Amino acid sequence: MFNMHNSNNSNISKLFHVPLLCLKTETMRRAVFPGSFDPITIGHEDIIKRALPLFDEIIIAIGFNSTKGGMYSIEERMQLISDVFAGEEKIKVDKYQILTIDYCHDKKANYLLRGLRTAADFEFERGIGQVNRLMADDIETVFMLTAPEYTPISSSIVRDVIRHKGNLKGLVPESILDKISL
Ligand code: ADP
Repeated sequence: MFNMHNSNNSNISKLFHVPLLCLKTETMRRAVFPGSFDPITIGHEDIIKRALPLFDEIIIAIGFNSTKGGMYSIEERMQLISDVFAGEEKIKVDKYQILTIDYCHDKKANYLLRGLRTAADFEFERGIGQVNRLMADDIETVFMLTAPEYTPISSSIVRDVIRHKGNLKGLVPESILDKISL
């Protein structure tokens, strides 16, 4: 269903000697996973990995406000995310400073991906998702439930552990453990 060049198209292409590209009927399923990712956690990684089979491309996009700081710079956050998904061609990493739905339109992404941990997440996401839909009904927000073991993990808890030089094993992706530990 997600294959842009299905076997029918391929047979038609062979029969009539037309390039496959001309027969492309389905559009690319591109999702934006927006967030602060300050820094990326094992919970984010899990949601992204589980969403990968659903989309042709996922853009992990750091929404930022120039007046609001953070523990890691935007470039450092992007580098950490790129390290986690090195070699995964369906993942792109980016940053943006405009309304998330405007960014989705710019990127021709029809899906917004968000993770849900708790009832509090749901209430927060419901408001944003419904207002986004009011403004742009061509963009569907897709929610994925967190794996139970990652429910308590958030970037803010990870930042606290980093500040106090705690052990980050099981909190951030294994591949960046040595880059992020002080
Ligand atoms: P934001 O500031 O937009 O909430 P975050 O980087 O904190 O940005 O989170 C980005 C997305 O990842 C949100 O949809 C959030 O609910 C989800 N998320 C964060 N932590 C987890 C986790 N442990 N498990 C699943 N989803 C998570």
